[in-house]
Amino acid sequence: MRKILVTGGAGFIGSAVVRHIIEDTKDSVVVVDKLTYAGNLDSLSDVADNERYAFEQVDICNRSTLDEVFAKHQPDFVMHLAAESHVDRSIDGPSAFIETNIIGTYTLLEAARHYWMALDTVRKQAFRFHHISTDEVYGDLHGTDDLFTETTPYAPSSPYSASKASSDHLVRAWLRTYGFPTIVTNCSNNYGPYHFPEKLIPLMILNALEGKPLPVYGNGAQIRDWLFVEDHAKALYKVVTEGVIGETYNIGGHNERKNIEVVHTICQLLEELAPSKPAGVAKYEDLITYVTDRPGHDMRYAIDAGKIERELGWKPQETFESGMRKTVSWYLANQVWWQRVLDGSYARERIGLK
Ligand code: NAD
Repeated sequence: MRKILVTGGAGFIGSAVVRHIIEDTKDSVVVVDKLTYAGNLDSLSDVADNERYAFEQVDICNRSTLDEVFAKHQPDFVMHLAAESHVDRSIDGPSAFIETNIIGTYTLLEAARHYWMALDTVRKQAFRFHHISTDEVYGDLHGTDDLFTETTPYAPSSPYSASKASSDHLVRAWLRTYGFPTIVTNCSNNYGPYHFPEKLIPLMILNALEGKPLPVYGNGAQIRDWLFVEDHAKALYKVVTEGVIGETYNIGGHNERKNIEVVHTICQLLEELAPSKPAGVAKYEDLITYVTDRPGHDMRYAIDAGKIERELGWKPQETFESGMRKTVSWYLANQVWWQRVLDGSYARERIGLK
């Protein structure tokens, strides 16, 4: 049985990774998470009592506490997901993005490298540091046929994507300079259960359920490649356990959709699945409202995920249609989870830490 240290495990993707490891494998997990506004222990309640799960509330910028966590838990692998992740927040206030995504990644790399150097030869050879990143580091695509590959040059547009690009460079430099065993993955937009309601898909679902406007940036023609979060979690576990050290793998869902198409899909699913409509709403689509575009908004992202499919045999199991149906159904069935996010109680009642 291996132990995997997962940073950012209380976040959207991190919690899906932790649930996958605890529920579908024999490995154990220690979550390292600062519990910012985006960290939610409610998202880990299904696994919190499992003896293979442990939680440490730690800021990845804090080197001495990280050293203690490595010494205490002796992980075999690190999966690094902790980050500030919301583009709009990075435009309003970039400093936390520089702090966590760049300084935090550097601090974690150093803590992990010193821990790794002291391991015995067998454990040292088996160790991996897996850095989880985004396709936004590549900038945007303007042609309709181009795809991001693992060798596409970096051209980040926002403070968020620039800070993630910086962290990717640090991770690769630690491999090249110190021989520290790293792997990088760059993934397209995720969606699914437990997604914080500031992001496009949960925001639209919850606004629609409350009869509020559905704000679409610009003309809604921006294209994103959508991946169901549980497919991403499975890909990440495959990479950390079977991926080749020093490699980069792009992960995507072959699901390019214009933002406005995503919003129409949500409205149609709610027409079908929601038990009732808010007062005064004839059709959910009537709530769509176009708002001023985000500055520096990238036009199109699309991933060529051929390498991970060929070399590691991973393929997404959900289509956009099946994943969106699961997502809308989950939000309809899990009102307690999102009500506790909207009213702030998820953050006030952070109890039951292991
Ligand atoms: P998220 O914002 O939902 O979760 C981030 C987690 O990191 C939270 O639990 C938060 O508490 C924690 N965290 C933040 N700062 C920290 C710090 N200083 N120390 C310790 N923990 C800290 O993010 P997400 O959407 O789950 O994304 C996870 C990772 O995947 C990020 O690195 C992101 O860049 C990457 N990614 C996200 C997407 C996407 O569509 N969401 C796509 C590709 C890649």
